[in-house]
Amino acid sequence: KSSDLDVLIVGAGAAGMMCAIEAGKRGRRVRVIDHARAPGEKIRISGGGRCNFTNLGTSGANFLSENPRFALSALKRFTQHDFLKMVERHGIAWHEKTLGQLFCDDSAKQIIRMLTDEMKAAGVVLSLGLGVKTIARDGERFTVDLDDGTRVSAASLVVATGGKSIPKMGATGWGYEVARQFDLRVTETRPALVPLTFEPGLLEQLKPLAGVAVDAVVKTAANSASSSPKGDRPQFKEAMLFTHRGLSGPSILQISSYWREGEAITVNMAPGEDVAARLLAAKTENGKQAVHTALGHIIPRRLAEVICAREGLSGKLAEVGDKKLRAMAETVNAWTVKPVGSEGYRTAEVTLGGVDTAALDQQTMEAKSVPGLFFIGEVVDVTGWLGGYNFQWAWSSGWAAGQTC
Ligand code: FAD
Repeated sequence: KSSDLDVLIVGAGAAGMMCAIEAGKRGRRVRVIDHARAPGEKIRISGGGRCNFTNLGTSGANFLSENPRFALSALKRFTQHDFLKMVERHGIAWHEKTLGQLFCDDSAKQIIRMLTDEMKAAGVVLSLGLGVKTIARDGERFTVDLDDGTRVSAASLVVATGGKSIPKMGATGWGYEVARQFDLRVTETRPALVPLTFEPGLLEQLKPLAGVAVDAVVKTAANSASSSPKGDRPQFKEAMLFTHRGLSGPSILQISSYWREGEAITVNMAPGEDVAARLLAAKTENGKQAVHTALGHIIPRRLAEVICAREGLSGKLAEVGDKKLRAMAETVNAWTVKPVGSEGYRTAEVTLGGVDTAALDQQTMEAKSVPGLFFIGEVVDVTGWLGGYNFQWAWSSGWAAGQTC
């Protein structure tokens, strides 16, 4: 015999829990299942353990999707300010770190506790360590066979299982299979917000820089797939980090969502500085100083030394021709470099692509061709920038589905 529910939500992550709270508040009989042993595991590890739970500046411009307008309705109906009110209602102390990014003062676990407390208050049943075997559409309802041999019948089925990032934490891409079972298209998926990797020769040269961070402006190359028809291309001004595997740090993670195989990226390692002008002025003022010393006044010393060594400029400023100095300055202000790949789903913060938004109602997240079937959060083809936008999408889309499911 099957147990009857109004709503079965698969995935007790950010989106699934928010949806459960809202549906429960409407008096729906809601059960959330998750194959993990604890709810909200990605929330727990997010933002270095402090969860960058939203961004004050959230707008449609911070998201990638085949249809960038799809996310707007949900983002407007449940905004960053609405989520912040919920955080404050629960007495969770928070701060803005940078660029509108809001973090818990203490611990990401407070956000998980807030969500599980609200689920409890809304009468939601949470079952952990439990997955789905099969799903069948049975007239107006869904019949779902669970791993423990039980059967559930539900009027609404909400898929909130996230993407493929961090398989070690149980990410499977299962939600895409459900979409395909119901003939919904899934767009191409790929790791995003992920460090980029480089060919061994270049890595060898960059090795001494592992651990060095610079403020940088990183862009995709001209004529890249991400260039607009007018030639504008995405660019991010944030920290960049050299690692022993390649490049990382916020600016690189951001550009990784736009970068495609075979393309180069351009990095300005001294934003706001005309490095050529600074070096030529230094040459006039104090030509006796070593080139790397002069450059080390503009960028981190270790980086200056490696660049000078690469360019073969070991002498004094006065001994180096202006042309050579200009060429070196170009390396600092517009280093063009071709990644060979990324670190992949193992370390990617999110999955780009997912369930085609054209198949979903933008107000409710319900599949247009399958009444009662909903997709929310990262499993949908809506991917945020780094900076709290992905959680905001999870809250907004979960909230939107929770009003209807
Ligand atoms: P998830 O949070 O991934 O939840 C999906 C749930 O479904 C999981 O609990 C999983 O166990 C469960 N599940 C999966 N498959 C099945 C199945 N077959 N059966 C049953 N259950 C299943 N975003 C931000 O905005 N700010 C940050 O600070 C931030 N930091 C991050 C740090 C890291 C290291 C990572 C990996 C991601 C970070 N993100 C951050 C991204 C953010 O975590 C995700 O975008 C967000 O968690 C997506 O929410 P979701 O509910 O859609 O999916």
